[in-house]
Amino acid sequence: MTSITRFAPSPNGFLHVGHALSAIIAHDLARRSGGRFLLRIEDIDLERRRPEFVSGIFEDLSWLGLTWEEPVLVQSQHFKSYLAAADKLIAMGLLYPCFASRSEIIAAADPQKTDPHGVLLYPGLWKGASAERVGARMAEGDTPALRLNMDGAMQALRRKRGDKPLTFTEVAEDGSRQTIIAEPERWGDAIIVRKDVPASYHLSVVVDDARQGVTHVTRGKDLFAATDLQRLLQELLDLPEPVYSHHRVICWADGRKLSKSNHDMGLRALREEGASAADIRRVIGLA
Ligand code: GLU
Repeated sequence: MTSITRFAPSPNGFLHVGHALSAIIAHDLARRSGGRFLLRIEDIDLERRRPEFVSGIFEDLSWLGLTWEEPVLVQSQHFKSYLAAADKLIAMGLLYPCFASRSEIIAAADPQKTDPHGVLLYPGLWKGASAERVGARMAEGDTPALRLNMDGAMQALRRKRGDKPLTFTEVAEDGSRQTIIAEPERWGDAIIVRKDVPASYHLSVVVDDARQGVTHVTRGKDLFAATDLQRLLQELLDLPEPVYSHHRVICWADGRKLSKSNHDMGLRALREEGASAADIRRVIGLA
């Protein structure tokens, strides 16, 4: 089967060997299947993105010997389309404004209840808030985040699919396929449009995977649980369903994640020390 794949780094630091693994897996899968390999710069975090990290991504991927289609999709140039998708969810009555601060959420949340990434589940502070309460905060010039009404979203999903469970297809390295039941409820009333930028990771990923026609999403296992919420958004927004492969994540022997900011196993540092692209492939087990 021809696969359209993508590598979607956030330019908040220089790439490390973990990124090389993700990029090479996506690239080689597309090339082996006679498909297309796309690149996407996920720079909605305007505070953390830096131009030198974007150029670093291009340099490091070229050095690895990868080629991708132009133009590269840069998310910060597409905020309008994320808002258009959010508008659809608003029209379905599935988003609500939330003005709660982090400290208000921490104070009200149940410490036992966390999402799959260990973040406290939102305790519903602004769910069902009156128009007056919302209007008063707007009048003060506050911008809200927009949260998904998860109960409402699950009802909308049931109206659409009946009893058919929400699933996704996980493709293993040997090509075998497994159907995974998605449990988006685990994410609670997740943020769909942030306060500071008119988008969120989950919303922009599903909009752009559809826009770019991605048929096979490859990324680290650390994003396996995120797929549940992303599948829900795809269903609600009538977006096509890609298949997924969540690959191993490279970490230190004690389980710590590689860090972009500490330059752990950074590709440019390894290059400066004399490593070749073939060395990197060998180190990450893709020689
Ligand atoms: N931008 C995300 C990251 O750098 C990856 C998103 C994805 O592959 O879905 O972790």
